Parts: sequence; C-alpha cells; structure tokens
Amino acid sequence: MNDMPLLVEPTSPVLRARDVNFFYGEGEARNQVLFDIGLDVMPAQLVVMTGPSGSGKTTLLTLVGALRSLQEGKVEVLGHDLASLRGGDLVRVRRDIGFIFQMHNLFESLSAYENIKMAMQLNGARPGREMRQHGVSMLERLGLGARIDYKPHSLSGGQRQRVAIARALVNHPRLVLADEPTAALDPDSTRNVVRLFKEMTEEFGTSIVMVTHDHRIIELADRLVHMVDGRIVSDIQLNDALRICEFLKGVEVFKNLTPTELTHIAEHMAKRHYLPGEAVVREGEIGHELYLISDGEVKVERGGNEVARLGAGEFFGELALLSGEPRNATVVATDALETYVLGEPEFRSAMDASANFREQLRRVYFLRH
Ligand code: ADP
Ligand code: MG
Repeated sequence: MNDMPLLVEPTSPVLRARDVNFFYGEGEARNQVLFDIGLDVMPAQLVVMTGPSGSGKTTLLTLVGALRSLQEGKVEVLGHDLASLRGGDLVRVRRDIGFIFQMHNLFESLSAYENIKMAMQLNGARPGREMRQHGVSMLERLGLGARIDYKPHSLSGGQRQRVAIARALVNHPRLVLADEPTAALDPDSTRNVVRLFKEMTEEFGTSIVMVTHDHRIIELADRLVHMVDGRIVSDIQLNDALRICEFLKGVEVFKNLTPTELTHIAEHMAKRHYLPGEAVVREGEIGHELYLISDGEVKVERGGNEVARLGAGEFFGELALLSGEPRNATVVATDALETYVLGEPEFRSAMDASANFREQLRRVYFLRH
C-alpha cells in the first residue's frame, strides 16, 4: 500500500472480526448465514477453516476480504476498519490481500507470466528484469516453469489454479485468503503449494486464512477453526499432538479409533525427518517402531530389489512388530521424508484398545507378507 500507512504492530491482529452477522436475500427470503462471528488472526498464523458445505466459510472469507459489504458487526483488516473505507482506500486494502478463490479470473488474453506481472505492476513499479526474475521464480516454485508463456485456455484446471496461487502470493501480501486452494491439484502440486504457504508464514510473516479439508495442510496449521450452520463452533490452537491427531483421522488404519485412543497414540508419536537416500529401516535389523509417512515418499527393497513405493498416509514397519521377526525389507527415503514414529509399547496398547486397528493391520500384514 503506497499512500496509506500500515497501522499494524507485529503483535496486533492482521484480521479482527467482531459480532459479524450476515444475511442473504430480503424480506420473506431473508436468510441468516453467519451468526456472531468473532475471529482474530495474528501475524504469521496459518488458520485453517473447516466445516460442512453451506456452513458459511466462503461468505466469511469474502466479508473479511472486503469483497462483500458488511451488514452487521465490525471487521478490521491490517489495522483498517472496513466500514470506514471507501473507493480507492478499499481497493488498496484489497490489494494488500492475496486472494485464492475458486473463480480465479485469470486474464485469458495474457500468458501465465503476464497475469502475474500485472499483479506486480499494480503493486508498484519495479525494474523489468527484476520483475521477470521474481515472477518466473514464483511460477517455477509451483512447478510451472515450462508453462510461463502459456495462456490460461491451454493450461489444465490445476495449472490455472497454480497460476492464480502464484499471482496471489507474488507480492508477499501480509494476509492471504484462500478457499480450497488445493481442491483441483494432484498430490505433487499440493505438496509444492503447501510448502510455499508454510514458507510464506515463516519467511515473510504472512497470515493465511484458508478453507481446506486437505490433511496435509491441516497438519501444518497453527489453528483450526470449525464452522457449523454459520457459527464458529470450535477454534483451537494446534500443538504437535493435536496436529498429528488431525493427520491420523485421515489415515485408513486409524479410522474408527475413539478420540481418546487417537490422542493417546498422537501424544506418543515423534516426528522424525530423513534426507533423500537415507535408510529408515534395514533388512535383518530388529524392529521396535511403526512409521507413518506424513510427507514424502519411500521405496521398499527386499534383497536389493524394489518391491513397493509408499507415500503420505501410508505406514511401514508393522511386520517386525507383529511377527517379532527381524525387518524383512529395507526402506529408503526417495526425497525429503517426514514420518511420525510410534514406539512398540504404544503400538501394543493401540492394538489392545482397538479391534479396528488390529483388523486393518492384519489386512495389510497379509497383503505384504
Ligand atoms: P460454505 O463455503 O461453507 O460452503 P457458503 O458461505 O458458500 O458456505 O454458504 C453459506 C450459506 O449461504 C449456504 O446456505 C448457501 O446456500 C447460502 N448462500 C451462499 N451464497 C449465496 C448467495 N449468493 N445468495 C443466497 N444464498 C447464498
Ligand atoms: Mg465454500
């Protein structure tokens, strides 16, 4: 924002909503879809909003992004009270927000790079070469290096979505509002996008409010806001155990475990990282741990031959725990790998606690043995 002072202190919220009510329609057809919404978002927070379809998530995002006029209540964005802003000032506040919505409105006559260039130009003048470098590197980070000069009509839905993400992030906005940004993306693109979001919060202190049900994002969230029927029904800050718990809920083998069982397991899981090429377990070793992949991929080798590849949400290491025999395979990280590791005692107590867990493991055991 060039001519309006930034009013936000590092410790004050980037976004503040108070007592927000919202109605669609008029007269008889008037229908309340948001009730008493209150929400503060701090700098560098990644806030994930979840909730059933129709619960008001998109409406709330468009209100706090000043894309829709407030009816009742108060919203401050980057220190500006939206109700007091008119015309040009409103446009400038919007320009400080990165929007990623389903209708991404790319300019059809402009290439991927030109769409991004336009966003950079709106944000202020910069030397052409620097702009080109910055824009291209953003597209490359989203896996679009080979599509820089393509027009939207010759890109796939997922590629257009990534151009829209690049455009929303290219000016390093202080606040990003995103509505199911990874819904149309394949797993690799999703991983790139998720990494980029996390880097933005860490490097630039960007705050992100995002509607998503993608467990890879939920797992990185600082905070989980859940909406039902127009109300925020829970708003929790996530610590590692809660984060792992949310991840476990999306994994088949842990389905049907009670919240208490899941929490118990999550609290006893340790996060462990491996470098590309590093062996996680080795054939012939005694095994005491179960590994659940939260990000990245491994290859499973037996007698020097690759027998399988496993990715996020899949686990390994259960055979040695179940049979008591030495590891029957070597598992190597193929790229940067993040795992949650469950030790033998907790593995046993999860087995004792849940018939479903036993059943799922047994199935995998017979498939793999
Ligand atoms: P969500 O994003 O959580 O699915 P929405 O904010 O899109 O929820 O919708 C909340 C409620 O408002 C729903 O009942 C929906 O039908 C209604 N709604 C959304 N947009 C409009 C609109 N333009 N006109 C009338 N009703 C709408
Ligand atoms: Mg929606």
